[in-house]
Formats: sequence, structure tokens, C-alpha cells
Amino acid sequence: MYKASSQILLPTSIIGSLPRPAWHTVSLGKRSFLEAMVNARWREQYEDAVSTHLRAQEIAGLDICTDGDAHYDEAILPELLAVAVTDDYYKDPVERCWAFSEALNQELNALADAGCPVIQLEEPQIHMVPARGKPFGRLEAADLVKLFNNTVKGLRQKTEVWCHTCWGNPAQQRIFRDIQSYQPTLAALNEVDADAITFETCSSGTGDLEAIGKTIVDKKVVVGVIDHHTLQIERADQVAELLREALHHIPPERLVISSDCGMGREGMSRRHAQYKMVAMVLGTNIVRQELGIAEAECLAADPRYSLASRAP
Ligand SMILES: [Zn+2]
Repeated sequence: MYKASSQILLPTSIIGSLPRPAWHTVSLGKRSFLEAMVNARWREQYEDAVSTHLRAQEIAGLDICTDGDAHYDEAILPELLAVAVTDDYYKDPVERCWAFSEALNQELNALADAGCPVIQLEEPQIHMVPARGKPFGRLEAADLVKLFNNTVKGLRQKTEVWCHTCWGNPAQQRIFRDIQSYQPTLAALNEVDADAITFETCSSGTGDLEAIGKTIVDKKVVVGVIDHHTLQIERADQVAELLREALHHIPPERLVISSDCGMGREGMSRRHAQYKMVAMVLGTNIVRQELGIAEAECLAADPRYSLASRAP
């Protein structure tokens, strides 16, 4: 169900992570989240990191703020895999995927039950199948859709679900020499049990927008207007130009504005991510003004609050 993005036209948000503060040094290790929250040092760093991420998004003027993936440190995924679905127990990698999907589903339902207004989940690389082949040599795009839908089962009755797709950024590099297209798997992506699907449309260009608009007709479409590979900050007018193009194919009632992917895990600084979020809001404000929609307040771009400029 639409929750976080309901009642807002052209809402702005980010997908994935924000850069981890340099002082956030404690990791979960083998502890569960609840065990770690009992430790004063871990709890203080985690809570302060979430607070920092939220404040950065608030002063940029984003409509839907996230925890910036503060819960997701370097150790959590291997540990989860080790604890929840051990190699010894599940020899078969596909069985392991399904067991992991079940474990995640329980956690995500607990999150929705606690009142979380939006849950964004990376899809299991459905769109990568044509480019990289079938995972484990045997999972078709349709199998990966089933896996995603199992992971989110029960969620949409309680909260808004976003399906995150992107073309990756290991060490802020492209995975592929050439820009890849979503088009071969758009029909499969349309089958995911989600309220919104995100598409990388800044870094990899806008070539798929027409096909996306024709195929994804009953879900919200989240377009990336911020490149997660580059440190050069997008200009507001560049963001606005991309949005005008997107609006040729997707009606404003179903268009959501975001980053192409997470900005936090592969080398970008907090300052770059902050400026990029500000550019996203200022660019969206240009288009909002053109459409007669109320603009978002962007405190970060207000010279009255600048710590660096001289008072007039
Ligand atoms: Zn991503």
C-alpha cells in the first residue's frame, strides 16, 4: 500500500546507503542487533549515525527520509548468512537462497508491524540475468521474481514496498563496459510484488524511460537523478531536465525522484552525498514550480544558515 509516498506529488528520497561517518567505527560483529544495542558504545554510535543521516536528508529537503543503511555494516551480511543459513545445513545454493528469503521475510514483517512506513529491498538481480547469465547456472528471471515475492510476502498489506534495481558500483566503477538496458527484463520486473520500482536513469542514461513508462503502468516509478559513481555534483537544471524527460513517459502521480543507487559504500564522502541530495531537491523544485506544485524547503541551500559565507 502507498504510505510514505502517498499525498505527495514528485516525492524525493534516496535509495541504498549514505556514507558512514568516520567516527562510526564499531561493527556488529557476531552480535545480533538487539545484543549490540545493549552495548553503550555501539548504541551511541549507531543512534548518532542514524540521527546524522536523518538530519542531512531533512536539511536537503527530502520528502521521504531513510536510515541511510546505518544498520548495515560490513560484517552484517556474512554474519547473517552464517547464522541464518549455514553452508553445512543448506548444501544447495538455491535452497540457501530460499532459506535466506524466509528469514528476511520474518524480519521485514516485524519491521512493518512496528509501523515502518516504507521498506526498500534490492531485487535479486532480475535485470542482470541477460547480462550475467542465470545465478548458479539455473535461476531464470521468473525464479528470481518468485524469490523476491516470497521475501516480501505479507508486507504490502501493512506498508509500502520499494524494489531497488541498479547496475552496481564496485569501487565506484561500472560493472559493464557498455551501458546495459532494463528492457529485456521489464516484463519480469513488472511482476515483483512491490508498490514502486527504482531505475538507474542518471548514470546509465534515459534510454529505457519510454519502455519503462509503457510496461510499468500500475506501480510507482522511482527514477535516479543522481549518479552514485561520480563525485561531480549534478546541477539543479540537469536534474530538472531529466525529470521533464521522465514526465513524458510517466505521469506525475506515479513518479518518484531518487538517487541511482546508494552513495555510501564505495568511496563517496558525506559532503558529496549531501550536495547531491541538495541538487536533487533544487532540481525537483524547478519542475514543481513549472507544474504549480508546492516546492520543498531546502535549508541546506539557504544562505542564512551557511557556516561559510559572510553575513550580508
Ligand atoms: Zn543499488
